[in-house]
Amino acid sequence: MSQPISQLYDRITDFFAAGHLPGQLEQAIQSGKLSRAIFIDPEPAKARTPYANLDDKEIKLQATFLSYLWSFCYCMIRFQQMTIDQIEAPIVRLRNSSEAPILNVLFDWANSLRDTYSDWPTDLPTPGQDSQRILEADALFLFAIRYLMFHEVGHLILHESSADFIRREKRNPSLSAEDSRRFRMMELQADDFAIDTLLAANTAEPHRYMNMVGAAIAQLASLFLLKDDDLRGGRTHPDFDERLKRLAKKASFSEQQHTLFFDGTISIGLQVFFERYAVDFLPVDSEAWRLTDFSDLFDMLYQKIDERKALYVQHRPFI
Ligand SMILES: [Zn+2]
Repeated sequence: MSQPISQLYDRITDFFAAGHLPGQLEQAIQSGKLSRAIFIDPEPAKARTPYANLDDKEIKLQATFLSYLWSFCYCMIRFQQMTIDQIEAPIVRLRNSSEAPILNVLFDWANSLRDTYSDWPTDLPTPGQDSQRILEADALFLFAIRYLMFHEVGHLILHESSADFIRREKRNPSLSAEDSRRFRMMELQADDFAIDTLLAANTAEPHRYMNMVGAAIAQLASLFLLKDDDLRGGRTHPDFDERLKRLAKKASFSEQQHTLFFDGTISIGLQVFFERYAVDFLPVDSEAWRLTDFSDLFDMLYQKIDERKALYVQHRPFI
């Protein structure tokens, strides 16, 4: 039986093609930097993030990862809705909701794909069902996966001349500090390429908002695929919080509601992440604490991330 996510394959490729600047992808294809084909690996294996193959210039997606990302989108939209419903208590309290059992099962299943493949459990939301919630998840998923695909296009277009360096040094366990810095810079360049291209290709406010939220979701989704809450990026990637902050700097919306929802998305993602690792980020008097704007909340969340990173530096200095 085909996997439920396969119902969105055509839309993924169509949406990808619609995100570029005029002539941009065609030019990259003509000059041999990018393959026209996009490969989606259907093998039932544990989740693997998208990547660009330096040899055949193809963007490689994987069915398990796509299922994971869709489920993450579905849950994040519902978490967002719950916090709006409980506007007096801006800290996510998922246990209070009647939807919690379904979301918990879907979220846990999605996260289990990090280690082991299993079929999509029955009786859970899937792509292709005809309901408002599913349609919202489909839409957000398409923006998130497109951002990740453009990140890979960024690597293929910008880093063609570094292909030999990447092949040679990627798995080098004793990478020099300078080479490590070069790898990290390439990741930030690909992040910037992705979001800058998508924002430039369609400047209408609703698209701007959805592209930004899709990018935030894509970045947040990567947190939950980590083995632990060590948010340092390691030898070849920037720290995860650095990438999120860099993205957030590009968030300027003409509608205040969009700013609120964008900040809400990042804050909820980080809160759920800490909840997962039972890390308490709230001040001691949190019952009396009220949110005035997101900056207080972000200060607390990012401070907690810095503390966790410092702990890992002590116990696991070399990564
Ligand atoms: Zn990358």
